[in-house]
Amino acid sequence: MRNLLPFRSASAPTSKVAALATVAAAVAVSAGIATAPAAFTTAAPHADEQAVTNDGQNIRYAGLTVRIPAAGEGVQAAAQSTSGDISLTVTRSAEGKLVVKTDDHEHGDEDHGDEAHADEQAEAQAVTASSARPAAAKTCTDRTYALAGWKLPSFKWYYNPAGAPAAVRTTAASAISAGTNALVKACGQKNLKLVPAYSGQTKAAVQVGAAGNCIGNDGRNVIGWRAGSGRWLGMTCTYFKTINGKKTVTGTDTALNTQYKFFTTTKNCNNAYDLQSVVLHERGHSLGLNHVSQSANASAVMTPALSACSVGKRTLGLGDYRGLAATYGTR
Ligand SMILES: [Zn+2]
Repeated sequence: MRNLLPFRSASAPTSKVAALATVAAAVAVSAGIATAPAAFTTAAPHADEQAVTNDGQNIRYAGLTVRIPAAGEGVQAAAQSTSGDISLTVTRSAEGKLVVKTDDHEHGDEDHGDEAHADEQAEAQAVTASSARPAAAKTCTDRTYALAGWKLPSFKWYYNPAGAPAAVRTTAASAISAGTNALVKACGQKNLKLVPAYSGQTKAAVQVGAAGNCIGNDGRNVIGWRAGSGRWLGMTCTYFKTINGKKTVTGTDTALNTQYKFFTTTKNCNNAYDLQSVVLHERGHSLGLNHVSQSANASAVMTPALSACSVGKRTLGLGDYRGLAATYGTR
């Protein structure tokens, strides 16, 4: 599960990948879920970082909890702290070996929380969204991407409209479709082999908890709304299983956080975020893209943060597309 952060400053962001703590431990392989506390060692690279713990059933890190997956399976979970973006990926090999990765993006230059609630005091203003893209000149030259290592065999998805904010209730479905369909092209290229297929509205729940936890996998790929308690715009939970040596996604859900305002047209975007852009970013996670640097790769869709009132990232950058092409191939 990965999330997208609100980001309103036009100044240079200070994103960083702070840690990639990898720990491994042998657990019982006879049962699908380990039932006894397994020997588990962590090697945090810095003393001030939070520890990864394992009670034999769950792995916890910085407020995130994921259940230890069955052998050959894995799950990525993430939640946003007040200072950034945190994820936890737990993979278990067919032999039972656990590999835990954490990924921490900090944004120390402003307080997003005040921004999030500023709309409650603000007068309604006619603010027109900006189509300016950060580092626009690099959109079709920056080839950088990062891969999570999994692949969707096909991308059949559903929309659950329950809880949609009034401002976008009638336009959300088409904006979500537009954001999803933007996955297949960039910079004049449009030959990606994976083609998303919208399968209609559903009452099946988005299996993302309000706190940003992965709460289950019904095998159906659902996007919908959640009154999230964390400072995230969108959150994606992705489950994968190793089949013939390859990580294959068995379900991926995305929650959109109604604690923030969204817009779908370019008018009256004050303190709101572009739904289409948020969806495109989250879909990138579902398809196997990881974040790239907020500062070094500013033109990419897969930077951790998005600015309010920006429609500049409704299309993939070259690096985003190359990452997908490397995973899915092109026609
Ligand atoms: Zn993200």
